[in-house]
Parts: sequence; structure tokens; C-alpha cells
Amino acid sequence: MIVGSGLAGYTVAREFRKLDPETPIQIISADHGGFYSKPMLSNALATGKTPISILNANAEKMAEQLKMTIRAHSRVTEIEPINKNVTLHGGEKLFYSQLILALGADPIRLPLEGDGADAILSVNDLDDYHQLCTVLKGKKDVVILGAGLIGCEFANDLAVAGYRVRVIDISAQPLGRLLPPSGGAYLQRRLEAIGVTFHLGAVTQSVERIHESLRLTLASGEIIQTDVLLSAIGLRPRTALADAAGITVNRGIAVSRSLQTRYADIYALGDCAEVEGRVLPFVMPIMHAARGLAATLAHTPTSVRYPAMPVLVKTPACPTVVSPPDAETQGEWQVEENEGGVKALFRNTEGNLVGYALLGTATKEKNVLAAQLPAIME
Ligand SMILES: Cc1cc2nc3c(=O)[nH]c(=O)nc-3n(C[C@H](O)[C@H](O)[C@H](O)COP(=O)(O)OP(=O)(O)OC[C@H]3O[C@@H](n4cnc5c(N)ncnc54)[C@H](O)[C@@H]3O)c2cc1C
Repeated sequence: MIVGSGLAGYTVAREFRKLDPETPIQIISADHGGFYSKPMLSNALATGKTPISILNANAEKMAEQLKMTIRAHSRVTEIEPINKNVTLHGGEKLFYSQLILALGADPIRLPLEGDGADAILSVNDLDDYHQLCTVLKGKKDVVILGAGLIGCEFANDLAVAGYRVRVIDISAQPLGRLLPPSGGAYLQRRLEAIGVTFHLGAVTQSVERIHESLRLTLASGEIIQTDVLLSAIGLRPRTALADAAGITVNRGIAVSRSLQTRYADIYALGDCAEVEGRVLPFVMPIMHAARGLAATLAHTPTSVRYPAMPVLVKTPACPTVVSPPDAETQGEWQVEENEGGVKALFRNTEGNLVGYALLGTATKEKNVLAAQLPAIME
């Protein structure tokens, strides 16, 4: 039984089916249960993609393809590890022999004052994208809270789609956690060149509704009026269900390298999971974890191994690839910059390459340099 029909849930199902065509698989999902590429949501507006055109296959098609059953629009409200069952919203109990939690993550919401706070949108799934498309109809002006990866991607996409875009962030530069200052400045200039305006080092305090629009007040006293407010300040692993069941939870649902929780028959992967202390909410770690878990479930116990996994930032105005060093790693950035881009290499105190940020033409070196990076988990 897999709870969650996102990339993590479906990839485990697909990988497991390759190894075992017979054992019944059941997916329980709170959403529609269709399969789509979530990364596409932050670069779909400029090319006019609708929620329907983004959906690769609906739940019925997926069930047929993978020879399994899917319970869509069914939320698991309780797990009983000792009795090996889950309870669905409405009270129905279902028994499992192995349970895989692929619950994803929730967007973090800023605790803002004002009667406009409930109008703030965030896009973390296909339904959210549908809502964004609906709200954007007839509007011209969007403010994005957060200049991280998702915020910058939406800024690029919305600007190319013809909207006036302003981005607000408390940090002094875009992609503050991933780029050295010169890289952040380069990305900022390239996004400004397509019309994006940045308000950096700025704290948003409140949002009020003024007729059809929203009025933000920054801590500096500055007032910004907009039609649409999109929040992209980060995600928090969905851990409440596991926590209530007595499964160990830290930042995410704590699992070993075989993706096992403290209960032998309960596993977790994807955005909800913390694998030996690491929460890696990206596509590549999910693919590696799903392959390993499928093998374990098919009776070949397997530990997940993560190679270096650079992330492509989908900002066509400034092609960017990042492989940030661990937060605890001591070292320094060595930066080369020219008209065409920025090549920033992070070396540890022994002089070894342990991270990089490549922007513009420097991105052509991404594969050669990735081969020199150490594995994230051997
Ligand atoms: C806009 C955007 C762009 C991105 N771009 C990139 C990118 O370019 N590159 C990259 O590597 N990563 C990117 N990511 C991250 C990547 O998409 C995610 O890491 C990945 O899709 C997460 O998959 P998941 O299956 O873990 O979670 P989700 O896709 O969130 O799936 C969670 C599933 O669990 C279900 N669920 C939750 N609670 C319950 C419950 N109680 N009962 C039943 N079902 C439940 C949900 O309905 C859903 O089906 C992006 C993310 C976003 C939001």
C-alpha cells in the first residue's frame, strides 16, 4: 500500500512492477491520483500549458498501466502500525502488509497580518496550478514572496507570459542558499532584463484587501499594491500522520538508508522523508530512493546511494545549475565571472571541489564538473 500519488509514490510502483508483476499494489491518494510532472508547474504559463495538458495520465490509466488499484480523493487520517491498518477519512479501515508513505510536503505560509492573508496563493500541485490560472485571468500584476528556486522560476515564467512581476525576499540576493553573492547578482540582472523587479532585504508585514487588489505593507513602511500574491518561501515535509502513529519524525519522517521507519513494514520516501538526516525535495533523489525501495520490497534489501545530483533552475533568462555544498561544509567559493556567465566552484578546506553554481554559458561545464563532485551518500 502506497499513500500518495506524486512522483515518489508512482515511481516506487513503477519500479516495483518491473521486478514483481504479480503482488497487488494499491495507491491511496488525497488528490485526483493522476500522474504529471510537478517541475513543469513553474514554467508552464509562458508556453500556455493548461492543467489538462500537463496531466500525463489520469488515475484509471495509471491503474491499468501498472496493474494496480488506485483510491483517489481518499485521505488517510490514521495509521495503526501494530494492527497494520490505515483509516480513511470517513472511517473505513484498510489493511496492508507493507506501507509506503509518499506524502509530499506542505507549502510554508508566512504568518502575515491583515484580511488579505487568505488570498495568498502557492503552487505545489496541479490543483494549485489550476487555481493560479483561474486567478490570473484578466490580471496584469503579480507579487511573488520568496526569491528562492521556485520563486525565481515563477518570476521568469510570469514575466515571459506578459505579467508585471515583483519579487520580495528577506535575503539580500536571489537564490541566497544556493549561489554566492556574485551569482545571485548575475541572476538578478538577467531577470531584471526581462522585466522582473526585486525588493530584497525586505520583510513583508501585512496584506490587506483593497477592492479587487491586495496591498502589502513592508517593515520599511513601503506599500506595494498588486492583483495576485504568490508565496514561494519553501516547503515543510508532511509528518503529522507518521508522528501521530508513533513513527520517528525529525525534519521529515525519519528513515534509514533502506527507507525504513522504526517499524519494519513502514517505509517513507520523497518530499516527506528524511533519509539519514537529509531532506532532499527534488526529482533525482526520489528516482534513486524509489529504485532502492522497489528492490527492497522485491526481497533484495538495498541501501539508497545518492551520487552528486545538480539541480537545473528553470530560469531560461539565465540558465543556472547548482550543486550546493552541505550547510556544515567549511570552505570557500572561487568565482570566475564574464559577460556570458558565472562559474563558481566551492572547495572545502582540503581544496577539494564539493559544490558548484554555474550560470549562463558556464552551464556547459555542468556534466564534466558533476563527475568531479563527491557522492552525497556513498
Ligand atoms: C513548482 C515546483 C517546481 C519544481 N521544480 C523542480 C525541478 O525543476 N527539479 C527538481 O528536481 N525538483 C523540482 N521540484 C520538486 C519536485 O517536484 C518534488 O520533489 C516532487 O515532485 C515531490 O514528489 P512527492 O511524491 O514526494 O510529493 P507530492 O508530489 O507532493 O505527492 C504527495 C502525494 O501525497 C498525497 N497525500 C498527502 N497526504 C495524504 C494523506 N493523508 N492521505 C492520502 N494521500 C495523501 C497527495 O495528495 C499527493 O498525491 C519542484 C517542485 C515544485 C512545487
